[in-house]
Amino acid sequence: MSLHGEYDPDNIFAKILRGEIPSVKVWEDDHVLAFMDVFPQSEGHVLIIAKQSQARNLLEVEPDILARLTAALQRTAVAVERALKPDGIAVMQFNGDAGGQTVFHLHFHIIPRWADRPMKGHGHAPMAEAAALRPLADRIAAELA
Ligand code: 5GP
Repeated sequence: MSLHGEYDPDNIFAKILRGEIPSVKVWEDDHVLAFMDVFPQSEGHVLIIAKQSQARNLLEVEPDILARLTAALQRTAVAVERALKPDGIAVMQFNGDAGGQTVFHLHFHIIPRWADRPMKGHGHAPMAEAAALRPLADRIAAELA
C-alpha cells in the first residue's frame, strides 16, 4: 500500500483493538495500546498504537494523538530497559510498503538490543507463542512508571 489511500478497518491492528483477534497486552489506557509483537525481532519487541486514530502512517496522524503516542513510546521504552536490561533500544516506524510497512495502522516498534545478539530481520522473525510473550509483557508492565 502506498503512502496515500484509505484506512482499512479490517487491518490486523484494528482487529486487535476490537478484540477480534488476541494479543498479548503490556498496558493500555483510553488512548493507547502497547502489546507484544507476535513476530519479535528480539526478546521484548513491543508495539505502540493509538486506539482512536485512523492514521495509516506518520504523515497522517493528528498531532495530539502523535503526542500521546510518543509519550507512551517513551514510558514503555523506559519500562523495557528496566525490565530486560538491554544494551540498547531501537525505536522503528515504517511508512508505506516501499518504506517497509506491512500493517497500515500507525505504530511504533520498541526493539531491545543486546550487543552479543543479532536482531532478526523485519518481517523475517518466527512467530512467538503467547505463553512465551506473556511473562515478558508482565515483566515490562511491572516496571511502568
Ligand atoms: P510494520 O511492518 O508495519 O512496521 O510492522 C508490523 C508489525 O506487526 C510486524 O513487526 C509484525 O511482526 C507485527 N504483526 C503482524 N501481525 C501481527 C499480529 O497478528 N499480532 C501482533 N501482535 N503483531 C503482528
